[in-house]
Parts: sequence; C-alpha cells; structure tokens
Amino acid sequence: MPYVRLMTRIALYPGSFDPLTLGHVEVIRTGAALCDRLIVAIGAHHGKTPLLALEERVELIGAACAALDLGQACRFEVVSFAGLVVDAAKAHRAHFILRGLRDGTDFDYEMQMAGMNLAMAPQISTIFLAASPPVRHITASLVRQIAMLGGDVSRFVAPQVADALRRAVARRGSQQ
Ligand code: ADP
Repeated sequence: MPYVRLMTRIALYPGSFDPLTLGHVEVIRTGAALCDRLIVAIGAHHGKTPLLALEERVELIGAACAALDLGQACRFEVVSFAGLVVDAAKAHRAHFILRGLRDGTDFDYEMQMAGMNLAMAPQISTIFLAASPPVRHITASLVRQIAMLGGDVSRFVAPQVADALRRAVARRGSQQ
C-alpha cells in the first residue's frame, strides 16, 4: 500500500531579515526539506527603523524562495508579524518554529527563547539548524553596517539583495 501522509507539516521561520543573507537562505533550503509548508515570518519591531522596507524584504525573500526551485516539495509563504513569535506560529497553524544556530552565543540566546516559547505554547517545538562553515560568520547586522559604509556585500547576500541594499543606502544618503 502506498504511504500517504495525512498531516501537512507547517514550519514558521521568524526573523528580521534586514537583509536576507546567504545564512538565512541556507536555513530556508534545509528547512524546506523538513516540512510541507514553510512560512518565513518577518518581525516588524516598532521603534526599530530597518534599512530595507518591509515590502522590499517580502519581495526579496519571495524571490529567493522561488529561486530555490523546489517545485511542489514545499510551499513557501512570506508574511509579517508584529507581536509574539508563538502567536504568529499559532495564527499560521505552524507545528514548529525554525531557527538557525551559528555559534555558542546564538545557542545560549536561542535555547532561552525556545524554552520561553515552549512554556507559552507547548504544542509548538523549536527546531535548530546548524549553520555550515561557509555561512556561519554571516550576520545581517554586520552586512547592514558594511553596506552603509559603502563596502562590498556580494559574498554574504544574493545579487538582488546587494542591489536593494545599494539603493537603500543611496536613499538614506539623499535624505540626510
Ligand atoms: P533575529 O533578529 O531574530 O536574530 P535574524 O534575521 O538576524 O533575526 O535571524 C533570524 C534567524 O536566522 C535566527 O535564528 C538566526 O540565528 C538565524 N541566522 C541568521 N544568520 C544566520 C546564518 N549565517 N546561518 C544560520 N542561521 C542564521
């Protein structure tokens, strides 16, 4: 008898993605193999001015997911949320939260957060994906700083993201 899986496995991958880096793309690619639906959820924090507008981040993440060319294997969605990650996960009926781990600092912070999230929503587990050596040094905040100082970020982000960062930095410059 053929094996039929009745449950759609839904994962929520929350983050700021300001900007989406090659490290995030690796988490998305690996995570897609673990679920049927992967929702990339952009946290919109009040009081924190992002370099890339929310709409730009939605578009860039959507394009990066489409470029993975995984066909029917996993359905992607890009959404934004303003409150708690567990509330966003519940709203999207996610079974688990996906997070990336680069080093011990990430581990300590992420373990605490996973523990708090589990206490608030025991039905939703966090899955950690270990970063591979080629991307484990990449952080969105350093990419932002390099871009704002006019540096080359092409080793850390996809070409469309590098273009968007260049435009965002030029926009900022013309506003000052
Ligand atoms: P946050 O502000 O919540 O850290 P980020 O957009 O920086 O949001 O990161 C979202 C998630 O992606 C976090 O779990 C983070 O550990 C993970 N992540 C970020 N950069 C990398 C990377 N280079 N490799 C693997 N995971 C990463």
